[in-house]
Amino acid sequence: MREPLHYVWDYTDVDRAFWEEHLETWVPPRLIDAHTHVALAAHRRVPMTEAMRRQYWVNELLEPIDAGGAERCHRIVFPNREVSCVAFGMPDLDFDLEAGNAYLGGECAARGWSCLAVVCPQWGPERVAALLDRPGVIGVKPYYSLIGRTPETRDAHLEAGIFDFLPHGQLEVLNDRRAWVTLHVPRAGRLGHPDNIREIRELRRRYPRITLVIAHLGRCYTEPHAREALPLWSEDPGLWFDTSAVMNPACHRIALEHLGPGRLVYGSDNPIFYMRGRRQYEGRNYCNRTSHPFHFNREREAAEIEGRYTLYMYEDLRALKQACGELGLTGRREIEALFHDNAARLIDGIWSAQEARHGR
Ligand SMILES: [Zn+2]
Repeated sequence: MREPLHYVWDYTDVDRAFWEEHLETWVPPRLIDAHTHVALAAHRRVPMTEAMRRQYWVNELLEPIDAGGAERCHRIVFPNREVSCVAFGMPDLDFDLEAGNAYLGGECAARGWSCLAVVCPQWGPERVAALLDRPGVIGVKPYYSLIGRTPETRDAHLEAGIFDFLPHGQLEVLNDRRAWVTLHVPRAGRLGHPDNIREIRELRRRYPRITLVIAHLGRCYTEPHAREALPLWSEDPGLWFDTSAVMNPACHRIALEHLGPGRLVYGSDNPIFYMRGRRQYEGRNYCNRTSHPFHFNREREAAEIEGRYTLYMYEDLRALKQACGELGLTGRREIEALFHDNAARLIDGIWSAQEARHGR
């Protein structure tokens, strides 16, 4: 039986069997997806073109999912689980960011979810403070490509410094509010780049109240990237990481070993991770395999292999389970911390700081 999931993806018997075999007894009853994108297609201002689709694989998958659609998918992919999330819109200047923030803040407040407002570096501290005052908003999602629109490439600002897209004026407000910041680190060198290490240390020193969550384990998708970067942060218990989009059991294992399950929050990176397929690795490179005829999908695997593909988010969950198993992390408390309790505690801390500010 096929059930439409999102965009070109269905939920199939392969996925049902995969959930039953690998995940049903492992995924805890409650979870918070701390990295998920929710947006309205109507907020796209610049149409997606053929040229843009050919340029970058994620562009081909950037079909927004609205809040109702996201909730419907949660019920399908996490059967009989209680799912909440930390959601943010499309960090993309081709979208109307202000409208997206207003839409998502309202949806999150109504559903008991938490929202991160997408912020441009040019926005002043007052504007960011006003966003943080909205119901449901616990923090921000900055991104280097919001420095300026460059239609020809998504990487015009890849080598930017962190403070170029997350400026000090904003950081002061965020520190004051104890706000959540999901930081997608810049630079081709990823988290291990010496300038990222220096800037994150500076950020932690100057703005210690910020709930800083490094996205995608610092973009450490391959084992060499994870090994050189993640152990550096073992001594900073106030720095958090989300597990989204990593998929590699070795990287999850290194994170769990050096940071521990108490400093990780589960994230899916949906709707992108509703894609079907698998990822393969060679040194510092990876290759995304999928069964849909996207432009980037030039080297297809044999039909019988493609027929066994499941959702990327399920492959990611299995990788996380494998890493936990290898390290003997089998206690319910640890798994529940990773999927729910850590994020819940961070969110509670932010709301108590808000209430204290308002003198309630
Ligand atoms: Zn993301």
